[in-house]
Amino acid sequence: MDAKWIQELKKTIQMKIKRIIKYIVIHCTATPANTTIESIKRYWKEVRGWGDTPGYHYIIERNGNIVQLLDEKQNSNGVYAHNSACINIAYIGGIDKDGKPQDNRSDAQKHAMFDKIVELTEKYKGVEVLGHRDFPDVKKACPSFDVKKWLSEYEPDLGHAA
Ligand SMILES: [Zn+2]
Repeated sequence: MDAKWIQELKKTIQMKIKRIIKYIVIHCTATPANTTIESIKRYWKEVRGWGDTPGYHYIIERNGNIVQLLDEKQNSNGVYAHNSACINIAYIGGIDKDGKPQDNRSDAQKHAMFDKIVELTEKYKGVEVLGHRDFPDVKKACPSFDVKKWLSEYEPDLGHAA
C-alpha cells in the first residue's frame, strides 16, 4: 500500500492527464438485485484493494435512481487497460439466483440507462457505446446483454419523459 501522500500525488497527476473519452461502457454489478452501493464500495476497497477508486462512474439502482460515484474527469476501474478512455456505467443486478448471467434490469433501470447514454453521447461527441464483454480478451458476460442490439431496438417510453 502506498503512503497517503503518494496516493494524493497519483490522484493529482491522473487529473492533469487529459482523459480522452472514447467509450461509454455498460456493466452489471453481477450481484443480487438487493445489493447496496455501500457493500459494493466496501468490496472494491477491502477485497480488490482499490482504495476510494470505484469500479464505475455511475451505478443505476433498481428503482432507476442513478448514483454518481466518481467525477467523469477521473478514471474508474471498469475495463482493464482501457479506463482512461471510458466512462463506466453499471446497473445493480445481472445474475440469476444461481449466479449465472441474466439480464434482469428493471424497466426503471433500462429507462435511466437509456437517458444517461443519450446524455453522455451528446456530451462526448463520437463516443462508442459498448458492453464490457465487447472489449477484446474479456472473459466475463458483463453486462449480461448485447448493448448495441438493445440500443438499436429500445423504444424509450416517452410517456415518462420530462
Ligand atoms: Zn463489467
